[in-house]
Amino acid sequence: MELSRREFLKASGAGMGGLVLLGAMGSEKVPRAIPLKKEPLGETYTICCYCGVGCGALATAAGGKVINVEGNPDHPINEGTLCSKGQALAQFRTVDGEDNPNRLTKPLYRRAGGTAWEEKSWDWAITEIAKRIKKTRDDNWISTVNVGGTDYTVNRTDAIAHFGGGELDNEECYLLVKLTRALGMVYIEHCARI
Ligand code: SF4
Repeated sequence: MELSRREFLKASGAGMGGLVLLGAMGSEKVPRAIPLKKEPLGETYTICCYCGVGCGALATAAGGKVINVEGNPDHPINEGTLCSKGQALAQFRTVDGEDNPNRLTKPLYRRAGGTAWEEKSWDWAITEIAKRIKKTRDDNWISTVNVGGTDYTVNRTDAIAHFGGGELDNEECYLLVKLTRALGMVYIEHCARI
């Protein structure tokens, strides 16, 4: 019988699930029943946000909750596989079917010298960030640099730096560099170079 890659992954996934359940029978833990997917539920393509590899995943939601995330067998980068972090993607939102109590849904702010976090609205946080960037940039703007008696236009600020992370994908990095360069930043770094 000819099996496509997708069918093979589905079949071997079902087999492995059975083995895992059998293996758990001898332990004191009662295995949790995993509902079988009998009907197509409407999968959505997504990209794992945990690192710059950018693996493709299929997310399935029902009743307003993500009920399954698995590797996308048609994605050219990971071809259906996900590492342990990618396999836990659904836990951003839910853990064992319940809303994840540790998920942050509002900005938290700790004022200078403060010891406690305060919940703030997104409007407040975005406005405050914009105000502080503008003030720092304006207060520390360098229009020209004199080298050997000649003024050279540089239009930059050395007072703000941007630090990117491995979770940013290619398109996000492109836009962030456009933004930071437009603001006059020259210290643009990434955690992978540290
Ligand atoms: S964290 Fe794992 S699954 Fe996610 S993109 Fe990186 S390698 Fe892929």
